[in-house]
Amino acid sequence: MNKDRRLPTASAPRRLPRRTVLKAGGLTALAVPAATAPAFASSLVSPRDEAPDTVHDVIVIGAGYAGVTAARELRAKGLRPLILEARDRIGGRTFTSTFLDQQIEVGAQWIGPTQPLINAELKRYGIGTLSGTPPTRLIMPSGGGFKEFPPDEVDARYGDLMNRLFEGAQDLFPRPTDPLYRKDLVAAADGLSLRDRLDRLRLSADDESWLSGTTAGYSGGSSATGAYTALAQWWSLAGYNVAGYEAVMSQRLSGGMTGLLQAMLDDAGATLRLNSPVVSVADDGGKVKVTVRSGQVHQARAVVVAVPVNVWKSITFRPGLPKAHQAATAQGVGVPYSGKLWMQVSGLSDRVAARGAEGSPFTTLLSQANVTGGQLMVGFNSLPVLDGADTGAVQDAVRKFLPDVRVLKVLAHDWGKDPYSQGGWALRRPGQLIAQLPAIQQPQGRVSFASGDIATGWVGFVEGAIESGLRAAQQVLKMTKGARSLTAS
Ligand SMILES: Cc1cc2nc3c(=O)[nH]c(=O)nc-3n(C[C@H](O)[C@H](O)[C@H](O)COP(=O)(O)OP(=O)(O)OC[C@H]3O[C@@H](n4cnc5c(N)ncnc54)[C@H](O)[C@@H]3O)c2cc1C
Repeated sequence: MNKDRRLPTASAPRRLPRRTVLKAGGLTALAVPAATAPAFASSLVSPRDEAPDTVHDVIVIGAGYAGVTAARELRAKGLRPLILEARDRIGGRTFTSTFLDQQIEVGAQWIGPTQPLINAELKRYGIGTLSGTPPTRLIMPSGGGFKEFPPDEVDARYGDLMNRLFEGAQDLFPRPTDPLYRKDLVAAADGLSLRDRLDRLRLSADDESWLSGTTAGYSGGSSATGAYTALAQWWSLAGYNVAGYEAVMSQRLSGGMTGLLQAMLDDAGATLRLNSPVVSVADDGGKVKVTVRSGQVHQARAVVVAVPVNVWKSITFRPGLPKAHQAATAQGVGVPYSGKLWMQVSGLSDRVAARGAEGSPFTTLLSQANVTGGQLMVGFNSLPVLDGADTGAVQDAVRKFLPDVRVLKVLAHDWGKDPYSQGGWALRRPGQLIAQLPAIQQPQGRVSFASGDIATGWVGFVEGAIESGLRAAQQVLKMTKGARSLTAS
């Protein structure tokens, strides 16, 4: 098991300012305290303090890891970026917050040793990681329900099943950061869904239920949605073995995901406008006009669109998006159903890791820390997404795994319903690697695209977002011929 096996040790949670951000959309149950103390070295500006004829060097749309990386790299080359962010916080699908006085991650949480870019960022900013403690009880699907198994048995059986699931991955992805290196083989496999792959393995019902929690969970509900090649590439990037695969989700960032992003943003020396959802991007060949919902228009010599692929369809592009981009945003790359629930539970003294099967209310359920009045647990829930406001329904779902616990409080975020992500982490759909990936990484005119959803390597991870931000910065430098800033410093 991956994240199930390594539970974060209690960290020294940073005290974070409390701000209600329910209006950001999709949050249920509790207002999430914002973790982003807006003490930006990059300047945070109010919406109407720009001369109408200002032409920025570059506008970056979206202040997630992809956008902030691009902004920082461009600033390092002398360009002055304006970042337009829809929400009232930075971070996008990363969001460090607090719940029950513990630092939590509402979105991305884990990183691993096989992710060089984020590890380099941590080193650069002197940020440490927190490792986990293994659970003492492991609960797995059995006979249509759930049963506790000895950890050694889970290790051996789950490891064996994962090896079977990914048999042949090394041939498909001998160079995992160059997924089309064996395009001939990948072309034949890319149309397969994870469901197709499971069916081909002809497993017993119980064995299949041990794998389908993984395949359906990462696909956002149904194994038929995710491409086999997408998960096989993760497996390959992680070293073609279950220990490497588990290690990818073994460490958390001290100070949280938002802490590192803030350090990167501070370095970017960018102007940041929050609450500025972009509605259109018009490239006239000389400069690009970017319109935000309020009607204000900003102009720049180049633009980086660093919003999730699923969101591209909500923005009007002139000229229209190329065909591959249109297909990607129509199909989606971020998984459609993705709920992450933080829960205070009582009646549980051991550290538990439980895995569901496809169709279970949770695909993963993990003890995280002891808190006053019980334990802090996190659960991943997909189809149907649980309503975090309905503590009774959440308790019923948890009791399928742990019949004696009481759920006292819930903090949940439904990333699928969030208008500024319209999905969770990315997992390519069948056929997207061959048909879309290289094309959707290409800029159009003066507009470049950055997103963890279109990474070459770790698609669906913060690592991939950084990779794509680096690429977009290079593309913009090419478009602007590496020119120095037009705006005064
Ligand atoms: C529940 C969950 C768990 C995850 N777990 C992990 C994990 O453990 N480890 C890991 O590495 N990754 C994880 N991920 C994936 C990771 O969060 C993403 O891959 C990564 O954050 C993507 O970064 P990004 O900058 O490409 O996109 P985003 O973080 O989505 O940033 C895009 C930004 O664009 C903004 N935006 C959107 N629309 C507009 C608009 N119209 N105008 C202006 N701004 C706009 C958004 O508000 C956002 O700030 C998880 C994701 C989810 C949802």
